[in-house]
Amino acid sequence: MTAKTLSLQQIFCQDKAVGSLQRAFGAGKMAHAYIFAGPDGVGRAMTARAWGKMLLCQSRVEKKTPEGVFFDSCGKCPSCLLFDGDGHPDFVSIYKELLSYTKEGKDRKPPRDLPIDVVREFLIEKIGNRPRMGEFSVYVIHEAEKLNAAGQNALLKTLEEPPSYCVIILLCSKTESLLPTIYSRCQSIPFGPIDREHILTVLKRQGVAESAAAYWSGFCEGSLGQALVWATLDCNEKGDKDDKGGKSVYDIKKELLEKLGHFQLADTIELAEWLGQSAKQISAALGKVSVDVSTTDLNRRGQKLMIQMILWAVSDAMRISLGLEKDLVNSDQITAVKKLAEKLDSDRAGELVSQIYRKIEWVDGSINEKLIFEGLLLNTAGLDIITAA
Ligand SMILES: [Zn+2]
Repeated sequence: MTAKTLSLQQIFCQDKAVGSLQRAFGAGKMAHAYIFAGPDGVGRAMTARAWGKMLLCQSRVEKKTPEGVFFDSCGKCPSCLLFDGDGHPDFVSIYKELLSYTKEGKDRKPPRDLPIDVVREFLIEKIGNRPRMGEFSVYVIHEAEKLNAAGQNALLKTLEEPPSYCVIILLCSKTESLLPTIYSRCQSIPFGPIDREHILTVLKRQGVAESAAAYWSGFCEGSLGQALVWATLDCNEKGDKDDKGGKSVYDIKKELLEKLGHFQLADTIELAEWLGQSAKQISAALGKVSVDVSTTDLNRRGQKLMIQMILWAVSDAMRISLGLEKDLVNSDQITAVKKLAEKLDSDRAGELVSQIYRKIEWVDGSINEKLIFEGLLLNTAGLDIITAA
């Protein structure tokens, strides 16, 4: 689940978070457990890796800045090289798909929670071992919000008496799901959303066309990571007649907006089917670029993306109804948005948005995909006749 790790200096969109880590480290007051709190895709995992690489580096670089000394990895020592080759013995990533590598986990399906077995075997049982190469060992727990109560309680004992050489970083997008006892034993570092202009610049630098870059920078609400994934995903399927590569998620969204602009109640079933197929196409494309992610999770991500696209289309249509044409996410398809706006009942606008949000929850609740998309379209048409059990 990695690519070459950036140095801390290269992470330029989370200066505040990196700054507070640097100050604590410089003052010799580093905590043993951190929560990197913030939405997905704002650089929490990237920062955890870069921070870990710096801690483990055998030839740390120290640069004087007006804010104090900035510590960074050298990128050349044996530790840094091992780190980049993904083989550092003192850096451990913990994520739910590790379940199949646990003693009892073979052939078990990837779960929704982060299983207690994974935490036990990859963290609790290992943390007593001294670092093999340097002065620290670093453990990064991905999706800590998915730790259930049993897993959190198991972790608690380690957090109460952490070995002096260990640094545990919990990446968490919903800190309210952590027990107060866990929260109080960690130092929380907030990671804020990244501004739209910055995301736009990075996307264009990656070769994403202007209109698509503008769309994704608005769509992803401060999540550069998400924007990069969606803007660069190749959705062409093998064997496509037109398999030149290059069908993008943005092409799918353009088609969606046209369809929504012309949507009639009688089209519900057909459009719901199209939504389902498009979600599958996106999930399949994601599957090609993701390592160790379960099919269920990939399917959920594809379905949620389609729902979020509808959500933005509806939000934009509502803004237009209110006379607010500036800063629309779908400013590239203003005609289609206006057509949609004509169909929406402005009195039920707020309710419609919450109905759409509820459909996103249905995806996590494993409700049948057909039911989700049909229900969503019926809501958009002003009806609410499908309810989930
Ligand atoms: Zn180094």
